[in-house]
Amino acid sequence: MALTEMRDGKQVFNSFHGGYSVAEANFCGPVGGDVYVDSMLGWLARWIRMLGRHAYYDSNYSDAFLSGVDGLVITRDVGLHRSRRSASLLLLTDDHAAWLAVASRVLGLDFSIDMASTLCPECGGRLARVGRDEVAGRVPVGVVARHSDFFKCVDCGKVYWVGSHRIKIDAMLNKAMDISKRINSICIAGGTIFKID
Ligand SMILES: [Zn+2]
Repeated sequence: MALTEMRDGKQVFNSFHGGYSVAEANFCGPVGGDVYVDSMLGWLARWIRMLGRHAYYDSNYSDAFLSGVDGLVITRDVGLHRSRRSASLLLLTDDHAAWLAVASRVLGLDFSIDMASTLCPECGGRLARVGRDEVAGRVPVGVVARHSDFFKCVDCGKVYWVGSHRIKIDAMLNKAMDISKRINSICIAGGTIFKID
């Protein structure tokens, strides 16, 4: 059980009662608006898009840009996090599944991929269902022979299909869901601490 205590008239989180923090946010509850993902977190940007939420990501975003942008910024940079006036989520772990668990909670995402709403992991564009004839020459012949459902990004043109990698995707989603069940989020003084007890 996580505890808070009063210090100098403010509620502060007491970290000496077991568990460890995996993230902190400068807001409480779910957050809307645009989502920006800091450089080095491209993996997470792709997953957020696959779960159906648009996320902006560019490995060349400057700290100055991310510091001032409206919406939510997800980062591992403490300095950037502290500089944010708008919403900011600071990831405190190297565990990618924990990143996905926390981001899903903050953004209200389910741990499942719905082909009707999933977005292009590479660019965030909408995916349109296309037939075999439209993907011929763009994917290996064997893939065209084995699959009938294909999806094409309306923005970057990349073609996707539900293939054997789906097993790995589901494994990661299950891992993130398990971690999510163990995460307690505690709202303190207008911010949130995400902690595994
Ligand atoms: Zn795309």
